[in-house]
Amino acid sequence: MDKEFIQNIRNDFPILSEKVYKKDLIYFDNAATTQKPRCVVEKIEQSYYHNNANIHRGVHYLSQLATEEHEAARSTVAEFLHAEKREEIIFTRGTTEAINLVAYSFGEAFCKEGDEVIVSVLEHHSNIVPWQMLCERKGMKLKVIPINEKGELRLDVFESLLNEKTKIVSVAHVSNVLGTINPVNEIIRLAHSKNIPVLIDGAQSVPHIPINIKDMDADFYVFSGHKIYAPTGIGVLYGKEKWLNAIPPYQGGGEMIQTVTFEKTTYNTLPFKFEAGTPDYIGSTALAEALHYVQNIGLDNIAAYEHELLEYGTERLMEIEGMRIIGTAKEKSSVISFLVGNIHPYDIGMLLDKLGIAVRTGHHCAQPLMDSLQIPGTVRASFAFYNTKEEIDKFMEALKRVVMMLS
Ligand code: PMP
Repeated sequence: MDKEFIQNIRNDFPILSEKVYKKDLIYFDNAATTQKPRCVVEKIEQSYYHNNANIHRGVHYLSQLATEEHEAARSTVAEFLHAEKREEIIFTRGTTEAINLVAYSFGEAFCKEGDEVIVSVLEHHSNIVPWQMLCERKGMKLKVIPINEKGELRLDVFESLLNEKTKIVSVAHVSNVLGTINPVNEIIRLAHSKNIPVLIDGAQSVPHIPINIKDMDADFYVFSGHKIYAPTGIGVLYGKEKWLNAIPPYQGGGEMIQTVTFEKTTYNTLPFKFEAGTPDYIGSTALAEALHYVQNIGLDNIAAYEHELLEYGTERLMEIEGMRIIGTAKEKSSVISFLVGNIHPYDIGMLLDKLGIAVRTGHHCAQPLMDSLQIPGTVRASFAFYNTKEEIDKFMEALKRVVMMLS
């Protein structure tokens, strides 16, 4: 992607022209949330101004229009992931709700005392705590895949953890802290060889890596809209039809029922069985708009350009004395976590902010990972396709100043 192309893309994101403390904003906090292109914001406005009505079962024109848009958005997501059926796409509030849904419903259907769940040490809290809650509820055990010194999963240990008590494996596709791209195909292959289903947390992969769910063969794949240029409050659970049919509903209410009497309720078919209450039809259609936007640029182009940013950023960071990059996996996405000497990450983040640069500092919702690395946290710079090498140069200038001040 050449400079002119990137500049045109940047023009689609009005917030990138904002000033922070009278300085140009440099936004390197994309792993936390991404900025929104004009077309996504305009889609929300258009939906509220022109097609807003509660969806499904409405006989009137507006309701039918809104329903069509919402269901078309489901098809867009299905196509984006290359899912076999659109009924396998469940709209949720985000990654967290999707994982909670599976941990609850799968747990109810298939888990009992003494069973085991496998996660990895590099998981976000949202892929740890729901499983811990399941373990507490049922008297099960949580098993943890460790990492090597580069931040790559130890597949040899993973293999030895799989046994007849293992009911499900749940791992991130990409670590939000280390940037490691996990070998999910291999993980799924190993688990499936023992008939164990796998959930893949795609929060950090879906914006950066083309996903073909059929090739990957994940049983469940989840992601959040806000990390892929869509609004907050909308996300996706993909589940294989056979699993979604086999597990009970997560929440009860309107939409998810077929018939209700005080004696007995029967549940709706997929995907509605898992979508209790008025769906976020404004969010779903805005998500579809964001996915079209990304598709127009092309995920292969995005991945290649972001990899350039990763390599350039990594190389430049190494100019700083005492630089320690946390996470040096061979396969990495555009996330760089680092520490400099004994300087506390929070101090670096705070001073960078004063220079207009947004990075994230802290444990990044991965306290067990921080504990295993024996560090309090990191500074994290995460890039999106609207970032540039020039921004990395400005960031480096600022970081050098900050490090000098704090050393
Ligand atoms: N998993 C990973 C790997 C993440 O990076 C995040 C968000 N930082 C989540 C899960 C949770 O996503 P959300 O808060 O949008 O539900």
